[in-house]
Amino acid sequence: MTDIVDAPAAVKPINHWIAGGRYAGESGRTGPVYNPATGEQSGAVDLASTEEVGRAVQAAKDAFPAWRALSLARRAELFFAIRELFHAKREEIARHLTAEHGKVLSDAMGEVTRGLEVIEFCCGIPHLLKGGMTEQASTGIDVYSIRQPLGVVAGITPFNFPAMVPMWMWAPALASGNTFVLKPSEKDPSASVFTAELLKQAGIPDGVFNVVHGDKVAVDALLDHPDVAAISFVGSTPIARYVYETATAKGKRCQALGGAKNHMIVLPDADIDMAADAAVSAAYGSAGERCMAVSLVVAVGEVADPLVAAIKERIPKVKVGDGMDASSEMGPLITREHRDKVASYIDAGATEGATVVTDGREGAPTDGFFLAPSLLDNVTPEMSTYTDEIFGPVLGVTRVATYDEAVQLVNENPYGNGTAIFTRDGGVARQFQFEVQAGMVGINVPVPVPVAYYSFGGWKASLFGDRHIYGPEGIDFYTRSKVVTARWPDPATSKVDLGFPQTR
Ligand code: NAD
Repeated sequence: MTDIVDAPAAVKPINHWIAGGRYAGESGRTGPVYNPATGEQSGAVDLASTEEVGRAVQAAKDAFPAWRALSLARRAELFFAIRELFHAKREEIARHLTAEHGKVLSDAMGEVTRGLEVIEFCCGIPHLLKGGMTEQASTGIDVYSIRQPLGVVAGITPFNFPAMVPMWMWAPALASGNTFVLKPSEKDPSASVFTAELLKQAGIPDGVFNVVHGDKVAVDALLDHPDVAAISFVGSTPIARYVYETATAKGKRCQALGGAKNHMIVLPDADIDMAADAAVSAAYGSAGERCMAVSLVVAVGEVADPLVAAIKERIPKVKVGDGMDASSEMGPLITREHRDKVASYIDAGATEGATVVTDGREGAPTDGFFLAPSLLDNVTPEMSTYTDEIFGPVLGVTRVATYDEAVQLVNENPYGNGTAIFTRDGGVARQFQFEVQAGMVGINVPVPVPVAYYSFGGWKASLFGDRHIYGPEGIDFYTRSKVVTARWPDPATSKVDLGFPQTR
């Protein structure tokens, strides 16, 4: 998506946001932005040069001293203002998402609401930054810990949540006193510029929040920049690994969240209709372009036949169409290339021996980048439809005989983002929670995205780094601790003492 584009007249330019205003790119490179529901190009986004990234980092660096010195009372007040404004503008934000990502408006509204929860959590920043205090640690000596911001921090985000994932980063980063440079996905960049406008309107000083659009050039410029103290990344596993290894080699703090292959286990005692409703919702919501989407159902024992039949029966009822149409339940995929790649897994499944129960190429709207829900049965672990993160509306069903086999599949998978179990047996569910190797676990909940006061993150190849994102771990990530040891002795008692300080 990094071609140089001669933008047609109707195509809107999408600029950077640096030091409190729009900044038209000077690199001479732009990337196309599409309306995925029609397939037409709607925008041309500036792709930043290394120098332009440097300008955004400098703006953030200049804004840092005053921003970090602002009282917590004032920062909390600003976060309440941000919350009110984003809440008032949530439909406008959602419309940006639907226009460029394609997800249906109700889903886009859900994305904004989940992002708002992170902003609401950050309204409590005075409480979240409280340190510890020990009086009389030694005679006349007090010890206390404080948390301080890192400086300029950067976020690099994926196409699938163009508003919420940036909120996971900038909200705790700003609330903790850092200044921020966002490099959003170049496929649906408008929501981030709108975010910048809203933050300015809410009273955030110029330079505290900046946006640079771009591709690998911009990402590498952030990774290389000596003034960027920390990088948060969310995207695919190969890029997450690259970003983590490069950032940490350069001495930066980094959290890099990667891809997923989320298994939903259905035990023989589960309610079939409830499990089928959950599988359809979690596999085809947002056209399967969610890192927490269910991409595999693991059917245990005799549950398989009725479960596959129940999922199959529900698929034709999913209304696929333009996300702006209020009756649509599932929109298009992000680009034509991605749609074609996802669709190719239906043939791959058939070639490798899976059963194609529903082929979503049939009956999908032909304009735009649509693929209707697709279902593959008898998927086995050596097939590409099992091993690959398809990231689209192609759900696989793998049949196993026992609970132990099902858990083994999850635990042997290289990804460990989310997983879910459907059962009516509390003891088995508890055993699952105890032994399953994934960062987010659902018990009769198919998409277990943690609420904002917990933290979000996977295990294994789904997250590089040691801090999950948002919630308490997000505040930890964007701050470092300092421990102060203080005494106020009577100068008359002062003497030279070369011994190692004792605490007794
Ligand atoms: P992506 O990895 O292609 O892109 C993510 C970001 O990296 C974008 O800003 C992009 O411009 C940049 N980028 C792309 N190629 C690059 C390169 N070669 N060098 C440097 N930077 C590069 O991901 P995507 O397609 O935008 O998003 C989908 C992926 O994100 C899926 O794998 C999905 O599972 C994952 N995801 C994970 C989570 C999570 O929380 N774990 C959440 C959302 C999405």
